[in-house]
Amino acid sequence: MPGMVRDLSLRVAAPAHTAAPPPRVLIVDDEPKNLVAMQAILEGEDRELVCANSGEEALRHLLHGDFALIILDVHMPGMDGFETAELIRQREQTRDTPILFITAAVRGEFAISRGYSLGAVDYLLRPLEPDVLRFKVGVFVDLYRKTAEIRSQAAELARAEMFLTGVLQGATEHAIAALDENGEVVVWNEGARRTYGHPHEFMAGRHFSVLFDEDTRTTLPGALLKHVDRAGRAEGEFWQSRVAGGSFVARITISKRDGAGGTGGGYVFIARDITGERQAEQARAELYQLREANAIKDEFLGLVSHELRTPLTMILGNAQALGARFRSLPPDVVEEALRDMTANARRLHSMVESMLLLSHLETGHDVESEPVLVQRLLPVIVEQFCEAYEGADIRLTIDPGLPPVEANPTYVTQIVSNLLSNAMKYGSKGSPIELVAMQGPDTVRVAVLDRGSGITEEEATRIFEPFMRLDRTQFQASGAGLGLTVCKRLVAALGGAIGARPRDGGGSEFAFTLRALEGAKAGTAAVLAGDTP
Ligand code: ADP
Repeated sequence: MPGMVRDLSLRVAAPAHTAAPPPRVLIVDDEPKNLVAMQAILEGEDRELVCANSGEEALRHLLHGDFALIILDVHMPGMDGFETAELIRQREQTRDTPILFITAAVRGEFAISRGYSLGAVDYLLRPLEPDVLRFKVGVFVDLYRKTAEIRSQAAELARAEMFLTGVLQGATEHAIAALDENGEVVVWNEGARRTYGHPHEFMAGRHFSVLFDEDTRTTLPGALLKHVDRAGRAEGEFWQSRVAGGSFVARITISKRDGAGGTGGGYVFIARDITGERQAEQARAELYQLREANAIKDEFLGLVSHELRTPLTMILGNAQALGARFRSLPPDVVEEALRDMTANARRLHSMVESMLLLSHLETGHDVESEPVLVQRLLPVIVEQFCEAYEGADIRLTIDPGLPPVEANPTYVTQIVSNLLSNAMKYGSKGSPIELVAMQGPDTVRVAVLDRGSGITEEEATRIFEPFMRLDRTQFQASGAGLGLTVCKRLVAALGGAIGARPRDGGGSEFAFTLRALEGAKAGTAAVLAGDTP
């Protein structure tokens, strides 16, 4: 993938280099005084000079490391400069090392042309001009250094390209694409092929909008690129489409590619299919909810078994005592034991009934509701209640013109009866119980007021919890502590609210609301129902 590094605007850190050794220059001459003279001329910090006084010695030096330049005296006893050059050119490693021949001017044209045929890059004649020699060698030393730099940069680029290709192709979880300035795909990685199913050949040169869901394909991709042009980056979760059909949500990041180096800019598009992630999140949330519900159920079961045990133990104890000594016990003791058993059995019965009702409400059954006229229903409830509870003194007040409510008469009867029965149990014997129905905002409010021991604001928030009984009322009346819980669930099932508060002048007030029938106006209800307001 040529040009990938530049295209993707990524830079890969090169490994830290130790400083490169200075370029070396090999000087070959059989005359020690010539060597000394040349060394004096050419010495410099940016190079290392290596001397050899024969062709053989020169070849030995060349076996160990690179040279920027070889300065070769043509006339040497034994192996002369040309022969040495010939051997140098035969070796692969030194084939391209520049050679600068030095010869006496008297040798003339022939020597010069032979030298060039052996790959000499230049020729110098004796006597040497120090400045010319220094200048020429300087050019070669520089050239060598620059070539080495370019080579190292090329190696670095090759490494970076290998790294990037590895990252691109290895990032199989991410679809990565480089887009040109028009949004057409230039680079398409393996992750993109896996995510979208399109092979590279299909996507190359195609506009990236084909990746988007049909509904958003025509407008969204263009808008995203415009946003990137303004803000440098766009991110979000968008519906995408696959070759195999079907849409999926991907988290997408698009950023600007720099246009340095004449690439013309463009965009980097990265997408990740988050379907699995979302499913896992949802499963986690569901599991959490299940655990929570389970914990609540466990706690409730613990409470229930505890509450059931007390009356059962009493019934069992009495039954055992009666069974063992029935004939020998005085009749009043037997009578009391039987009374006790009946009261506890009633309590158990009412608890089981309440729990069955609660569990029925819990399973989310749809409540059958109908238009109900509270002004009609309440007098019936009061009548039935007074028949069951001897001595109940209930004063009923109903605001005129109440609208019909959306309710279930059985539920309303149960709620009101529970509240009245509590007012009887925890109220004051001499004072009447008040039952009031009045108009609220889109509701009808029903309240039961007594002059009993009362409740505090704080207690009012607790007593609707299952099995919550106030210590101070324990001896006033028996109970299972489920009545108000049932009331709360019933009211909630009807879409209303219930609460309690201390009553001015002592005692307590329990009230709940019922939703007025939609569209019904106060005052019209009576007419609708043929009632006298
Ligand atoms: P139970 O009456 O069976 O104990 P409830 O759920 O009906 O169960 O009531 C829970 C508790 O709330 C009662 O035990 C009592 O302490 C308190 N309570 C209920 N109604 C009144 C009331 N009218 N006045 C004072 N306390 C009340």
